[in-house]
Formats: sequence, C-alpha cells, structure tokens
Amino acid sequence: MAHKVTLIPGDGVGPEIAEVAKNCIDATGVRIDWEIAEAGSEAHQKTGTPLPPETIESVRRNKVALKGPVTTPVGTGFRSVNVALRQELGLYACLRPCKTYQGVKTFFPPVDLVVVRENTEDLYAGIEFEQGTDSCREIIEAVQRLGRKKVRPDSGISIKPISISATRRIVQFAFDHARKHGRRKVTAVHKANIMKFSDGLFLQTARKVAEENCDIEFEDRIVDNMSMQLVQKPELYDVLVLPNLYGDILSDLCAGLVGGLGIAPGANYGDNGAVFEATHGSAPKYKGLNKVNPTALILSAVLMLSHLGEEAAARKLEHAVADVIREGRYVTYDLKPHRDDPAAVGTREMGEAIIRKIQGAE
Ligand code: NAD
Repeated sequence: MAHKVTLIPGDGVGPEIAEVAKNCIDATGVRIDWEIAEAGSEAHQKTGTPLPPETIESVRRNKVALKGPVTTPVGTGFRSVNVALRQELGLYACLRPCKTYQGVKTFFPPVDLVVVRENTEDLYAGIEFEQGTDSCREIIEAVQRLGRKKVRPDSGISIKPISISATRRIVQFAFDHARKHGRRKVTAVHKANIMKFSDGLFLQTARKVAEENCDIEFEDRIVDNMSMQLVQKPELYDVLVLPNLYGDILSDLCAGLVGGLGIAPGANYGDNGAVFEATHGSAPKYKGLNKVNPTALILSAVLMLSHLGEEAAARKLEHAVADVIREGRYVTYDLKPHRDDPAAVGTREMGEAIIRKIQGAE
C-alpha cells in the first residue's frame, strides 16, 4: 500500500528542492501518495495566512510531511510558520544529524554528531511584549515588584519558559535515540551558571533522566564552552541535547563542521506525527535560480523513509547521495572547491545524478 505523505514545498528555494527531493524518493520505488499543501509567503498572499488550516489538517491526517523552508519576516510581519507548525502538531523533538560525507571540503576532521533540540518552549515560546505597550509596562512593573530588579522602561520583553515536563521528554528522546542507534554518549548543553531557574532546571532534570538511563554515558557542557569545543574537538561528542535556542544555533554550527547548510538534514518528531525538513532556510536570494544544493532536503527524506519503515530505500537513497558527493562531478556550487567553479551543476541536475545512481545507471 502507498504511504500518504503531505508535501509542503514552502517558499524561496523551497519549491525547487522539494520537487527534486520528491523525484529522488519516487525513484527508490517506494510508493508514496503525495498530498501537496501550501505554506509561506504565497499562501499568505492568496489566503491571508501563511499557514492555512488545511495544511495543518493534512499533516494531522497523514502524520508524515516533507517540508521545504518557509521565510519568516524579521522583526515585523507574520510569526514563524515553522515554529507554529511545530507547536500546533506537538512536534517536540528536532533531530539534526551532522555527518561528514567523503568528498565534502571542510576544515574539520570527520564528524558524526546528532543534535537533539527541544522544539516547544524556551525563547521560541512566542511570549513577547512589545516595547511601549500597556502589557509590556505591566510586565516591567511586575518584574520590579516580584523580582526586585529594575528593567529599563523603554525595553521590549521576551519570556524564556523551561519546564520539567518538556525537558524530561526531550532528554529521554535523546537517550532513546542514542540507544536505538548504538551511540555512546549524551551531552546536555545549557547556561545554568547564569539562568539558574530556566537552564538550571533543564540541567537538574537532565541529570535525573540520565540516572534512569545509566547504560549510556552522560555529561553536560556550558553552551559557550561547547561552541568552542565543537570547533576544536568535535570527535569528542556524539548526541547533544539542548533547549530550543541553543539547539537552533549549535545545529547551524554543526552544519558548518560537515560542509555547510546545503547538506544538513533535519526532522521534527511528536507523539502524533513527524515533519522532515532541512536545517537551512528559504535562501531568498537564490529563489528560482536552480542553484542551491538539494542534499539537505534529500537527506531529510532519508530520515523520512526510515520513519516510514522503508529502511532499504532509505539506505539506497543515502548511498546514491554519498556517491554523487564523493565523485564531485554533478554537485552544486557549495560542494565545489571554489564557489564560482563553472563546472558546478544546478539543483535539478544534481537531483538527476542522484536518480541515475539509484537506478544503477552510473
Ligand atoms: P538560509 O539558511 O536561508 O540561508 C543562509 C545562507 O546559507 C544562504 O545565503 C546560502 O549561502 C546558504 N544556504 C542555505 N541553504 C543552502 C542550500 N540548500 N544550498 C547551498 N547553500 C545554502 O538562512 P537565512 O538567510 O538566515 O534565512 C532565510 C529565511 O529562511 C528567513 O526568513 C528565515 O526565517 C527562514 N528560515 C526558515 C527555516 C525553515 O523553514 N525551517 C529555517 C531557517 C530559516
């Protein structure tokens, strides 16, 4: 029977890479009944919302989606569609594997790390008070009264909630992932020395969960030190578990260790569904140019095929991607030794080379 999967092309470069990823998946022979759903700036213009209810309903129904990136206006405009989708569907765990593929130019030794990012709270909870509004003034007064701390009256405020329940859930997810995939260590990343009641609670809870999972090594690192250590000795780390914001930042750092955003996949899991998407954004300046690397979304599709129980197809697709990257002939500009290499191919052509590998034609 065919799997029903929602395909959200997104905006910016999203539709180009989504088309290529879909073709690569179809080439593995796995039968997928795709349901196309809109999100992003065009959906906003057409329907008045960047995340139409039908899109959320489609993912709820099918429980699996492959998603291209979606632009979030900076400072003003609509709130992040990506964050809203994760919150609406309860996709609490974001998994971002960072693995060095042979043939990718990088300044670092081979890396094989997994970033597990909490997806529902922290500074991403969307609890914000705009500078100059009555509610912001009220919050400032309450902070002064309850916390005995002075906040400048011309401040804007963003709230950082971290809970025991969400921390338990994400740290347990990290241990389960480590166990299932034969990994040896989980490292919790935080800034508990400064934010004692949010990051401190994260660390304290992570330590308790670690005691219940003592077959796997556990340690913790402060986020600034972790950033430096990842650049100097990434081979010391295995599975990292982080609150939302640090997870966002360090997963881009880890993508940099393995050759850049063009090859960094991701997945968001919840109890009732999963959405697979690249770590990178909509790269608007490359929109419609058939230029960016489709690998990150294709490797996200590898995670999706595993999730669907199609392990053989997942391995076939990952090997095809790895072969094309190792040979270095049909790859996009970011994987060439020089970014202006005239021999770089486009998004579509790299996808076609991957399909030829899947079909054994090369
Ligand atoms: P970005 O990831 O879109 O691009 C940053 C740079 O990384 C690009 O200019 C390009 O040089 C490189 N890059 C990204 N993807 C690449 C690819 N596939 N191949 C080759 N190079 C690639 O980050 P940004 O410019 O900060 O964000 C653009 C928009 O995307 C913003 O609106 C942001 O909010 C949004 N965003 C969406 C998601 C998502 O949908 N999950 C994630 C991150 C950012």
